Amino acid sequence: IQDRLDLLKSNTHNTVNSLLETLALGLAEKVDARIENGEDISLLEGIPFGIKDVYMLQGTLATASSDLLKNYKSPYTATAIQKLLDAGAIPLVKENCDSFGHGSSSENTIFGAVKNAANTDLVGGGSSGGSAVNVAKDFTVFSIGGDTGGSIRQPAGYNNVFGFKPTYGRVSRFGLMAYASSTDCVGPITTSIEDIRLVLNVMSGKDVKDQTSYSSESISASAVLNADEIKTVGYFKNFIETDAIDPEIKSDFLASIEKIKATGIQVKELDFFEADTLVSAYYTLAMAETASNLSRLDGTNYGQRIEGENLKDTYSITRSENFSEETKRRIVGGNQVLSQGFSDEIYLKGLNLRNQIAENFEKDFKEVDIILSPVTPNKPPKIGDSLKDPLAMYLSDAYTVGFSLGQLPTLTIPQGTATGLQITAAKNNDELVLKFANFLK
Ligand code: GLN
Repeated sequence: IQDRLDLLKSNTHNTVNSLLETLALGLAEKVDARIENGEDISLLEGIPFGIKDVYMLQGTLATASSDLLKNYKSPYTATAIQKLLDAGAIPLVKENCDSFGHGSSSENTIFGAVKNAANTDLVGGGSSGGSAVNVAKDFTVFSIGGDTGGSIRQPAGYNNVFGFKPTYGRVSRFGLMAYASSTDCVGPITTSIEDIRLVLNVMSGKDVKDQTSYSSESISASAVLNADEIKTVGYFKNFIETDAIDPEIKSDFLASIEKIKATGIQVKELDFFEADTLVSAYYTLAMAETASNLSRLDGTNYGQRIEGENLKDTYSITRSENFSEETKRRIVGGNQVLSQGFSDEIYLKGLNLRNQIAENFEKDFKEVDIILSPVTPNKPPKIGDSLKDPLAMYLSDAYTVGFSLGQLPTLTIPQGTATGLQITAAKNNDELVLKFANFLK
């Protein structure tokens, strides 16, 4: 732990901008003492991990990489993080990310763009970019990201590591700053499937502080497929047969499909919604939800306050000065789709599409056990490009957002030279996802 802390506090990390406040909190010494006493320690005890800076950890900064919460200290600890602390894992560092989870490149941050672990000209991905880069660089053994529409899976894919978004509700969201509450998920970024299993089992479970959380069985140690568990896997034809996909991502994906066919598993092509339909539905709902969730950040109870001439002025100046352009775009967009005259036309249409997407998944999972997809249609962009073209950035989320709207368990594993393979199962089938990933190894 000390070696890692020294490394992180040296200048090494400045090259990728993935790290914020360093922690450790004296916990390593306690584990040392237990070892010296000859006590048995459990698997996660003494293991250093990182935390995306949208989680509460009592007494430490929780900035959401934003000016508004630049000096905000967590008054309590998130349930998922507390469970890891109880298991003896050591929080080592808070991690740079897109402000409030708004972004796909980790450039929407007051701390400078997170750079890709393999090539510093490219983005680290987002919004949990710092978390994925830290794991890829072995600054942390694992990190806890947050995934609303792809923010764990996409940066994991961009940095060649593993990232899991569990079924919505499997892990409590209490103490995760809300972005879009109906799709927000807590999940790990790791260098192995086994680490995902370990961390997930610790974090999972019903929590009275999050009414959408539910209790689930632990994922079994074997997590290996039985012969009859997977008969058919499917993939969305329109995600692959399109000019919008990078040729190398396409050929890596098709190579994975051929490998699977060779094992005797059937592969089925499926129909799905077009990329722009998925992206429109997701961003309509995500913006509406974030506009509502962020309305509490008005300078009254949390974070930076800039005094105006009256209360209304204070709200307005505090928010105008302290939210980023991207966050303001989402608040304005979200309030617009919720407002009278627009909500029927736009917001309800988004909800309706979401229902159709869920029905589509229900139908698909009667025919296939697993759905496979590339994580993104494109490779990581150059630093600066996403800021110039937000619409292109939104479209780059086309392959992750559908699974979020469906609240499904979905995992990124490294694949070929490109940006990762996404493995998805029906709701609550998190174990099957990990088993299938083990099978592909
Ligand atoms: N890139 C997506 C967005 O900006 C997903 C972000 C996330 O999952 N937090 O909404």
